[in-house]
Amino acid sequence: VKQAPVPADLDLSSLDYLPLMVNRLLSSDTWLLATGDEAKAAVTLWCRAWHQVPAGSLPSDDRLLAALSGAGSKWKKVKAVALRGFTVCEDGRLYHTVLCAIALEEQRKRLAHLSRRMATGLRATVFERDKFTCVYCGDTEGPFECDHVIPASRGGTFSLENLATACRDCNQEKGARTPEEWRQ
Ligand SMILES: [Zn+2]
Repeated sequence: VKQAPVPADLDLSSLDYLPLMVNRLLSSDTWLLATGDEAKAAVTLWCRAWHQVPAGSLPSDDRLLAALSGAGSKWKKVKAVALRGFTVCEDGRLYHTVLCAIALEEQRKRLAHLSRRMATGLRATVFERDKFTCVYCGDTEGPFECDHVIPASRGGTFSLENLATACRDCNQEKGARTPEEWRQ
């Protein structure tokens, strides 16, 4: 039995959209061969799976699937087509390979966005702590940059203790050196 393609806690339920690859959908066998009822159940299940935890999965239970798909008493008739692309994994849930790949990509984008926002917030905190003054030359005019005292390329962290306000000139001159190396 396959391992689940996404982490068990992958939760995209706060995303109100599902990115669909238009050409991929329109040329897929499921779409081309499905009846109206089958296609409706399939798309409904993709949307439901998108908001399940983990994202891209469904419970492997006919009663639940009949309800989730909206097919109700027609579930048995549409099941085979509506569940195309889903396979049972080792936790007993159904996973849609393509949906899970899209979910992982969305999660990657979300985390990247989050870390950019954190970096912006961190920079503002550092500037305020240093009272908008370059810690190296005392310049108060700016423009300021956020300097890694121990350069990131040499293992310096993004912790507040390792970040300092530097004017652009000092930051560029210092480059990938520690303050001690720079002063020499
Ligand atoms: Zn300076």
